[in-house]
Amino acid sequence: MTQPDAAPRVLRVALPVPLRRLFDYTLPESFRTPMPGVRVRVPFGHSTRIGVVVACMACSDLPAAQLKSVSALLDDAPLLDAELLASVLWAAEYWLGSPGEALLNALPVALRDGRALPPLRAQAWMLSDDGHVALQDDRTRGASRTLLQRLATATLPADSLRTLPAAERAALARLRRAGHIIAAADSAAAPGVAPALNAAQDAALAQLRAQPPGFSVTLLDGVTGSGKTEVYLARIAEVLAQDRQTLVLVPEIGLIAQTAQRLQQRLGVSIDLLHSGLSDGLRAEAWLRARSGAARVLLGTRSAVFAPLPRAGLIVIDEEHDASYKQQDGLRYHARDLALKRAQALGIPVLLGSATPALESLHNAARGRYAHLRLAARANARPAPHVELIDLRRQRSEHGLSAPLLDALGATFARDEQAMVFRNRRGYAPVLSCAQCGWHADCPHCARPLTWHRAAQRLECHLCGRLEPVPPRCPACGSSALQAQGHGTERLETALAERFPDIPLLRVDRETTRTRAAQAALDTRLPETGPALLVGTQMLAKGHDLPRLTLVAVTSVDEGLYSIDFRAPERLAQLIVQVAGRAGRGSAPGRVLLQTRHPDHPLLLQLLSGGYHALAASLLEERRAARLPPFAYHALLRAEATREAALFAFLDAARAALAADAGIEIVGPMPAPLPRRGPRWCGQLLLAGAQRGALHRALKPWALVLETLPQARALRWSLDVDPLEMG
Ligand code: ADP
Ligand code: ZN
Ligand code: ZN
Repeated sequence: MTQPDAAPRVLRVALPVPLRRLFDYTLPESFRTPMPGVRVRVPFGHSTRIGVVVACMACSDLPAAQLKSVSALLDDAPLLDAELLASVLWAAEYWLGSPGEALLNALPVALRDGRALPPLRAQAWMLSDDGHVALQDDRTRGASRTLLQRLATATLPADSLRTLPAAERAALARLRRAGHIIAAADSAAAPGVAPALNAAQDAALAQLRAQPPGFSVTLLDGVTGSGKTEVYLARIAEVLAQDRQTLVLVPEIGLIAQTAQRLQQRLGVSIDLLHSGLSDGLRAEAWLRARSGAARVLLGTRSAVFAPLPRAGLIVIDEEHDASYKQQDGLRYHARDLALKRAQALGIPVLLGSATPALESLHNAARGRYAHLRLAARANARPAPHVELIDLRRQRSEHGLSAPLLDALGATFARDEQAMVFRNRRGYAPVLSCAQCGWHADCPHCARPLTWHRAAQRLECHLCGRLEPVPPRCPACGSSALQAQGHGTERLETALAERFPDIPLLRVDRETTRTRAAQAALDTRLPETGPALLVGTQMLAKGHDLPRLTLVAVTSVDEGLYSIDFRAPERLAQLIVQVAGRAGRGSAPGRVLLQTRHPDHPLLLQLLSGGYHALAASLLEERRAARLPPFAYHALLRAEATREAALFAFLDAARAALAADAGIEIVGPMPAPLPRRGPRWCGQLLLAGAQRGALHRALKPWALVLETLPQARALRWSLDVDPLEMG
């Protein structure tokens, strides 16, 4: 054992292996002691791994003889600063993942294999107009004046900073704060002009400014088009003026381009992007610019929540209710919840924006944990769209389209306006069946109907991806009367193109946007003016702005009304309000049609009469009565195996391994809501606790036991803390 007061000679390292633990290594005599956050190469098994130093210690709990030694230190300075390191480790702990996988995944791909950091794109400082004025006015003295004079004739590359005298370096920081010196990259565009804020926006901004400095969470709860983005912009501009960084998260890649453009035009600074659509090189560059503090406004999707923010000033999460913020494999983190944790550690405010806040967020606001600001009306004083139900029991419908819906579409096009038809199912029809004997095509593995993709001439299982040819006649009775049952976006597209042959029509779903090129082509295919029709899945609910969109139709809301998932009503209400929000953003008023066989369903009645917030309040009451989240905490163990017996042997062993604790309710083992996926059987075990703390105390040791169960070897399993899907 080493002397306790000797220099640290043991490194605790996080390695990208699927084990929920850290590994100790000795540090060779000749190595300097690294800071936590530095990458190292270490021997592991028969090979080597790249890991991240988490702590430097004098000695290990293990005898020194059992420790291997570090092969190489890969960085001079920590790649992850103390806050980011601690926050990622917290995430691994909370969502029960491997700390090493979490840390390495937080790095851009280009930095995971131990390569040296690429050089940052040269940045340069220059005088702003104010800086020129200050120089001419002769207001400055000393180092400030020297620096202004130096910059009056040439930009100053950032990498020459090290050679500046200390006094001038301090002056640079001062003059940047004053706006006299700006990054040369920011000079391309002058900030755009903001509209004069309306009274509601002004009030919201005043409340935000009145908050004490440091960590705070504000739910900016405003109907679509109420001007939430203008409030974000005003706050971001203030953060920029203090020379601090803002991280803006949006739920999906499709929203990045338009958001980046709006931020850039208004703020007049370059926007750094972090999302999975970028090449590894560009991602690493943006990440490193964030780490250096040079990136001042970072915009990204879920994974951007792992961006380094050494000069953090603000985090904005747009559409905070969106389920895309939850990672659905690997470490199943929630970007909003992790952002809150980071903001707390960084001592900065968070703005959560939505027209349809998550029930969890409304509950937190009601408990006083979040400030709650409402923007109740559209900023441009346009009326909210009018929502009507079409009773499918009283209407004949063809290809999923009722006569009143078709009439409304015709009238819209006659007025030269645009429409959107929404259906959350791709393909031509969800079922292909025989009119003679009732046979229908099922996936042989999943025992669920195959979706008929008519144009592609095949049947596809949307669970396991299995493809089959379309049989020419019924395999059961030989009849050729095979027919579509139900409708998907492809069928709607076909029927609507036939009905309105002269109207430009575009289908947007996973099939038509499979590639980035296809996605980009879509955005330019609809005319700017004149009638047009969009048909698609929930991808339509976000982005895809049509300026003259006045009619939105949802061909069926019924699946959401009768789902076994307790979150389905919340999701359906959010979806209806979000798609409705797309209508009437321009000058003409909007109309929303919902087709249903259950026009008396309380959810629909309440949504139509009281709006989202009234419905949310009663959904929260139901959750309270049923002791469901946010009034309880869930964790889900999922497993899948090729043999059913192996699956349940594992789940039984997992249940038995859970320490009996009065505070935790265990449901299962049980089959998953969709019990087959391809050749595998799926099952699960649900843990529910009234207290988050008690649940977590039980989960951590349990996860370690699961790793060692012999029954776990032959199957896949995963843990999901605060699951959003129950399957
Ligand atoms: P949200 O983010 O809540 O959907 P936006 O900020 O995008 O709302 O605003 C909706 C529309 O109203 C945008 O076209 C925006 O430019 C405009 N707008 C917002 N605030 C104002 C205002 N105070 N005066 C005039 N137009 C505004
Ligand atoms: Zn048949
Ligand atoms: Zn299948």
